[in-house]
Amino acid sequence: MRWHGPGDVRLETVELPSPAPDEVLVAVAYCGVCGSDLHEVKDGPHGIPVSRPHPISGAVAPLTLGHEFSGTVVAVGAAADVAVGTPVAVEPNYRCGRCVACGEGRYEVCDGFGFAGLMGDGGLAEYVLVPAYMVHPLPDGTDLAAAAVLEPAAVALHAVRRSTVDAGSSALVVGLGPVGILVCAMLREAGVELVVGIDPVPARRELAVRFGASTVLGPDEDVVSTVRRLSGGVHVAFEVVGAQAAFDQALACLRPGGELMLLGLADRLCVPALDMVNAELRISTSVGYRDCHDELIGLLAGGRLDLGALVTDVVALADAPAALLRMATEGGRGVKTLVRCGGEAC
Ligand SMILES: [Zn+2]
Ligand SMILES: [Zn+2]
Repeated sequence: MRWHGPGDVRLETVELPSPAPDEVLVAVAYCGVCGSDLHEVKDGPHGIPVSRPHPISGAVAPLTLGHEFSGTVVAVGAAADVAVGTPVAVEPNYRCGRCVACGEGRYEVCDGFGFAGLMGDGGLAEYVLVPAYMVHPLPDGTDLAAAAVLEPAAVALHAVRRSTVDAGSSALVVGLGPVGILVCAMLREAGVELVVGIDPVPARRELAVRFGASTVLGPDEDVVSTVRRLSGGVHVAFEVVGAQAAFDQALACLRPGGELMLLGLADRLCVPALDMVNAELRISTSVGYRDCHDELIGLLAGGRLDLGALVTDVVALADAPAALLRMATEGGRGVKTLVRCGGEAC
């Protein structure tokens, strides 16, 4: 399914490429739909290269969307260290290996920042060619639908790792989409007992409780006073919405010295600098992930992370353009929609 422009996504047949030495061809089993895909469909381009090819992928629109995917390796380049037939989850961020960030191991903020499925061809397809460094082998028998949700789980784990939370902390999560719910799960894994989740949709709040939130509220309930009563102000607040109101609410729930971890993708936010200075609040940020997949695959394999429970809708690849256009215009009340891509090996 290729993005040609806002409101214009099409199913197209393209020639099946054979892998370069450091690439692998994956038969895609499932690919999740992310809010960033819907932004591109609604009023993109935001990250999709349209005038200049992406520096690492070399891609320029039209390109295949989808960055949350799992599948089976069906062909490998000569230098790729993975066997044909291996079930894999894909960690879709590009890395150049040469910039300052890559040199520090922080490939999530590589100069060539980008994701297969936004800045290069992605997983809303029967087959996709990806750099070999992106694939993570899965234990045999792994549910490939659940494995497609490892990508947003990695976003959540990376944010929790970057934050200052520890087992004695209290936390707030504003926005309980898939990433927000998974932040609750990762906080629970980190031993955090007091996790307050905020979202207007009751079904999302219920799921957040199942994944580790200890208290859930609608954004219009008495959030700040409830959080203060429960915790005296939280140590860390995760903003997973990307909107001024959510940012303000998260900030207002912090204790003095607390940390706001910003994951939401707002273009600009207004910061109450004086209040922040006077309470020594800090804002931290988190984007993408690095070195998260192996830990998450272990949690999934060990039955500690029920990623399949986040999947509320599954659509066929043939129906993906209509489904994404509808979701982009009407929004959705579900949590995670997966596209069944039906590459031959799944
Ligand atoms: Zn995403
Ligand atoms: Zn780099």
